Amino acid sequence: MAEKRKVIRKKIQATDDMKQYMADYYYELDRAAKTGEAKVAWCSSVGPAEILRAMGFLVYFPETHSAMLGSTRMATELIHHANALGYTPEICSYLTADIGAFTQGVTPLSRAYEGIESVPKPDVLVFNTNQCRDVQDWFAWYAREFNAPIVGIHTHRGVKSVTESHISSIATQMEEMIEPLEKISGRPFELNELKRVVALSRECSDLWKKVLDTAVAIPSPLTFFDGTTLMGPAVVGRGTQRAVDFYKVLLAELEERVKNLEGAVEDERFRLYWEGMPIWGRLRAHSELFAELKTCVLASTYCNSWIFSAFDAEDPFTSMARAYTELFIVRSDETKEKYITEMIDFFKVDGVIFHDARTCPNNSNCRYGMPQRLEVNTGVPSLIINGDLNDLRCLSDEQTNTNIEAFIEQLEEQKASAS
Ligand code: SF4
Repeated sequence: MAEKRKVIRKKIQATDDMKQYMADYYYELDRAAKTGEAKVAWCSSVGPAEILRAMGFLVYFPETHSAMLGSTRMATELIHHANALGYTPEICSYLTADIGAFTQGVTPLSRAYEGIESVPKPDVLVFNTNQCRDVQDWFAWYAREFNAPIVGIHTHRGVKSVTESHISSIATQMEEMIEPLEKISGRPFELNELKRVVALSRECSDLWKKVLDTAVAIPSPLTFFDGTTLMGPAVVGRGTQRAVDFYKVLLAELEERVKNLEGAVEDERFRLYWEGMPIWGRLRAHSELFAELKTCVLASTYCNSWIFSAFDAEDPFTSMARAYTELFIVRSDETKEKYITEMIDFFKVDGVIFHDARTCPNNSNCRYGMPQRLEVNTGVPSLIINGDLNDLRCLSDEQTNTNIEAFIEQLEEQKASAS
């Protein structure tokens, strides 16, 4: 049996700054929606936020709200309200939990932030299908509900090599958004403002990458579970100076930890990579379980998804088109396997956890033999856990914990026989 012990969770001090950041972000949106002092755009999480910000919109991301529904464990009980409207339990549980919450007039924002009673009313909804079609259907429901305009980018999927024709078709769709957005925002588009925002987004992305890359240190100064909350400003605040300032503070703290050999998990013994969505309602439980097993889940495809290294302020439309098409989720299995192999090598991991999220096939890469192929090619073992991002009915805690403990035992045995 793998050794378990009482766990001490080391707090990352910058988490307090991040909480303040998120509070200010939601209060600003709430104020704008109530007073009309600024227009509000809803945007999918890897949608063209830079364009919206450059045109003066405050940008709200429904996926972040839905992740809050998951982490507060409100989601599961709300999903059936969306099912009753014809959105089946088999599709994205971000979508079903979020629409279910709206129909019931509840939001985790009210619990977290006094005085906020609902999500901010959109003046426009903007999606990119680069991650999935569900965002389009999700936003279309709200567009009907609020009688608000909706615009979107339709992206290629399963892309092996990103070509000039991919880039030009996406860049053109982005440029074609400008005219309708100008009418909604009531102000003219300014290229220099877009360049400024893209430059800030690139800086934010570079810092976020450096933060995540500190996990290469042995022991790792942060875990995947830390990353899922610390990524907040990279998702909702990319393109702002404040997000850049936050990641400078966080990076300095993590570099200090690395210098002092201070691991996020005490006595780190095994290092794992997480492939797939987090199980939001079990973040704390999983963080503690792995720490008890002296195992650091230290890197993930998920947190890396907000790294946009292609952003170039001098060529904003083309570079945004490239960055939002080069994303892992958009790519072919072959490209994904190459990427995961590089991550296994870079972060020196002992194993990979694949989360098969029932309602998100787009972020579940274990259904067509990928774990098995990777094991053969890298020699690094993997474990598939069945669950979901938000719908906790798809998860057996007992089964998951047993499987994880058995996997760590397997790693123990491998280590013992190798020494
Ligand atoms: S990628 Fe998955 S979790 Fe995200 S919106 Fe699409 S279906 Fe939902």
